Amino acid sequence: MISFLFLVSILTSLAFAHGNDSHFPRSQDVTVKTTKITGNVYMLQGRGGNIGAIVGPEGILIVDDDYKAVSQKLAAALKELGSDKPRFVLNTHWHGDHTEGNEFFGKESTIVAHINVRKRLMDPPTIFGQKTAPYQLFALPIVTYTESMTIHLNGEDIRLVHYPNGHTDGDTVIFFEKANVVHLGDDFFTGRFPFVDLDSGGSVQGLINNVASLITKIPTDAKLIPGHGPVSTHADLKAYHAMLLESSKIVTDAMKAGKSLEEIQKTGLPEKFKEAGSGFIKTEAWIATVHRSYSMK
Ligand SMILES: [Zn+2]
Repeated sequence: MISFLFLVSILTSLAFAHGNDSHFPRSQDVTVKTTKITGNVYMLQGRGGNIGAIVGPEGILIVDDDYKAVSQKLAAALKELGSDKPRFVLNTHWHGDHTEGNEFFGKESTIVAHINVRKRLMDPPTIFGQKTAPYQLFALPIVTYTESMTIHLNGEDIRLVHYPNGHTDGDTVIFFEKANVVHLGDDFFTGRFPFVDLDSGGSVQGLINNVASLITKIPTDAKLIPGHGPVSTHADLKAYHAMLLESSKIVTDAMKAGKSLEEIQKTGLPEKFKEAGSGFIKTEAWIATVHRSYSMK
């Protein structure tokens, strides 16, 4: 029994060391849930970030590919949709809960991402105090872009647009133009305080700016895939923006009034933000991120 527990703890720590965004729930019996959004566009959910998929006669394109430990199950779920070998894998940003599957799919799929994702995966920054190993060559994006690009597949125009310095410095938002579906990666945590990776070029103000810009660009009737959370609406994105804006202003106002981080955390945020602080990023952590982000300027 002791040796079994020891083994479990070793495996868990190895998994933790390798999974960059390893704060999301880990479970041996994770399942991959497939949700049809509209037409030939789907959302799949395993253990990490939400996966987008478009299927059709020209093959499957997926957006993000979860942890490596989920790859077999993700491949099986994709096979149900037509093929377990995606023609393209897009990475919304470098974090492991969105890209580890590159090590499984990368030998046969063409991986596409913003140039900074390739750079980060070749030399990963420290995240949650953990340094992770560089990805193998075949698991890196082999097609990169800087501002925007479009992939034409299965009658759809799949537009990749880079949003600078928000969640990280390599964020891509993917617009399925005809289906009217948008995958926002971790620029959108529906109803929750977000993780902003300040050590990977992320910025709270940058994220707020990006979300404001997206609100004006995304049609009000579009269906939105957040990095984490359920399929969402334009109204959810507006509420998220208001929450980011208002909660961060409380922190920056207190900073201007000369309050220390500890004092601001002790005061906390109004009751209305209780739900927002009930996810992975608790209220205290969000206050610390806002404080650090605005101190960096
Ligand atoms: Zn992330």
